Amino acid sequence: MAFDTFYGNNSLKDSISRQIYTGTLSHAVILEGEEGLGKKTFARLIAAALLCAESEKPCLECISCKNVLKNNHPDVLFYETEKHTAGNFKIETVRQIRELAYITPNQADRKVFILAEADLMNTAAQNALLKILEEPPKYAYFILLAKRKSAFLETILSRSTVYSLMPVSDEQAVQAVSEQLSGPTDEEIEKCVKLVGGNIGAVIAGLKGNELLRASEKALEIANAVCESYEFELLKALAEFEAAGTKALLVKTAEALKGVFRDALALRSGSEVLMQINAECAERLCSLFTKKQLFALMEVSEELKRRLAKNMNQKLLITWLSAALKKAVEY
Ligand SMILES: [Zn+2]
Repeated sequence: MAFDTFYGNNSLKDSISRQIYTGTLSHAVILEGEEGLGKKTFARLIAAALLCAESEKPCLECISCKNVLKNNHPDVLFYETEKHTAGNFKIETVRQIRELAYITPNQADRKVFILAEADLMNTAAQNALLKILEEPPKYAYFILLAKRKSAFLETILSRSTVYSLMPVSDEQAVQAVSEQLSGPTDEEIEKCVKLVGGNIGAVIAGLKGNELLRASEKALEIANAVCESYEFELLKALAEFEAAGTKALLVKTAEALKGVFRDALALRSGSEVLMQINAECAERLCSLFTKKQLFALMEVSEELKRRLAKNMNQKLLITWLSAALKKAVEY
C-alpha cells in the first residue's frame, strides 16, 4: 500500500493515493492536525508521490523520492516560520512563493510548495496566497499545514481540499516509537503512549526529555502520598522539587497531578478515567475521599499551576503545596 511507512490514517492515505494516480489531487491541499501527528512527514510523502515516476508512488527508492525526503529536491519547496507565533508566516514569504510558483519546475514535471504552519498567516498574507490558489500553474501544488483549518479565510478553504490527520492506535504508536527511538524500554514507551495517546510525535518528544514520564510518575507518587495519612510520605515525594532546576518538571507534574485528581473525581461521579495510567491511583483516591475532598485536591493543583506561572520562590511553594494538599483532605 502507498504511504505504508506512515502509520494509521488509512482511509486518508487511500484517498490521496487514488487521487495522485488519477491526477485528480487538488492543487491546494490543507493538512490539518495537532502538533506531533506527522503533518510535515506526510506532506513530504505526498510531494514525493507527486514527483515519483515509478508505478508505486512514492516508491521511496528512486532518486527523486530520496531527494524529496531529504529536503533536497529543487522542485519541492518547504517553508516554515522562524518564531512559530501567530502572524509569523509573513506576506513577504507568500509573495516569494508566488513568484517561484510561476517559474517552471527544474527537474520534475511538477512543483510542490509545502507551507508548514500556514495557519500562522495573517489576513493580508492569506489574501496574497489566495491570488495564486485561485489560478495556480498546472504543474504547481500547494500543501498547507495547520493545527486547525478554522485559521483560514473562507476564500482559502473554498479553493482547497481539507484532510485531517488523526492519532494512531496505541499499538501502532508503540510500534512506531520503538522503531524510531532506541533508548526507552517498551514499558516506558507504553506508559508514555497511555499518557498522551496515539500522537507519535508527542510520545517521542515526551520520551526524549523523559520529563513527561517523570512528571506523571511524580504526580502518582504525590497522589499516593496524599492517600497515606502519613505526612512523611508527602514530604518525601515533594523533596525533589526543593532542588534548583526542577521548575520545568514541577510545571509538568502540576498538570499531571490535576489529571489524576480530575480522573478520581470523574470516577466518583460515575464517569470513566480519561488516562489509563491514572486508573489505579484514581480508584484509590476515589475509595478514600469524598467528592468534596477530591474537588479540593483538584483546586490545589490548579492553584499550584497559577502560583508556578507567577514565578514564586519554589521552596515556599513546596511548603505551601504540602500544607494545601493536607488541608484539602483534612488529615
Ligand atoms: Zn520514487
